[in-house]
Amino acid sequence: MTTAFISHQDCALHNMGPEHPESPIRLAAIRKVLDRTGLLQELDCQASVAATPEQIQLAHARLYQQRLERLQPSEGVVYTDEDTALCPDSLHAASLAAGSTILATNRVLTGVNDNAFCAVRPPGHHAEHDLPMGFCFFNNVAIGALHALQQNGISRVAIVDFDVHHCNGTVDIFKDRPEVLVCSTFQHPYYPERYHDIRRDHIVNCPLPAFSEAALFRNALEQRWLPALEAHKPDIIFISAGFDAHAEDPMADLQLSEEDYRWATQLLTDVARRHCAGRIVSVLEGGYNPVALAFSVQAHVEVLAGY
Ligand SMILES: [Zn+2]
Repeated sequence: MTTAFISHQDCALHNMGPEHPESPIRLAAIRKVLDRTGLLQELDCQASVAATPEQIQLAHARLYQQRLERLQPSEGVVYTDEDTALCPDSLHAASLAAGSTILATNRVLTGVNDNAFCAVRPPGHHAEHDLPMGFCFFNNVAIGALHALQQNGISRVAIVDFDVHHCNGTVDIFKDRPEVLVCSTFQHPYYPERYHDIRRDHIVNCPLPAFSEAALFRNALEQRWLPALEAHKPDIIFISAGFDAHAEDPMADLQLSEEDYRWATQLLTDVARRHCAGRIVSVLEGGYNPVALAFSVQAHVEVLAGY
């Protein structure tokens, strides 16, 4: 098996200030652990290529993209909401993050790689069609999924999201696209409080109360995600891989461990093998304790790589 590891040093240039939890340290911690364990050397490491404006507009309004460009400062930071800020390099980093999912999709669909993990930032799953939110500007996984749907032989896509926050942006973009199944587990009630109660057959929202143990998370995947995935029969699976439901994460109150991420990834790789020749594109979302994040990514990528 070959697993692509797609990243770019310029993803570190997006910097919302020294106190901000969505910091460049996150990617450095991941790389350090994967390098030290020898896993990185087993992966097919590729540099992200920036998404074009047309590719970003697969998921976002042109006027939204132009508005972000006008807002981006030439120095300092400009806040787009109370916790999301643009610095001079933010949209360059965001374009690389979005482009990584397109590169990953192309490599997986042409069989160059069996699957791919995109270690990129800023994250994407809160970004709606025309609204930046929750540290996100461009919805990376949505852009990859919409690109995949333009390719020959791809008519059904699944996006699964185990970040501790609900993927309001992804649901916003796909709420009227039943060819895209969206499955999400998330702490509730909690940020962002949008679209978590939407009723659609292709949107599988699984709220989990604060301080839920791993058993509830695993139960949601087995009882809710698995039947939906089996019925949908996706041609490719995208993972919004946020690791902030980890017990050591400072952002929220779920109680997962590295072993739960390993288990979830195994469940998803089994589904992918049954339905779509193992094709998975996984994209980093949250995870704000750098150590817990890095070891969780290690467990996730080990399963993708067949360990
Ligand atoms: Zn999150």
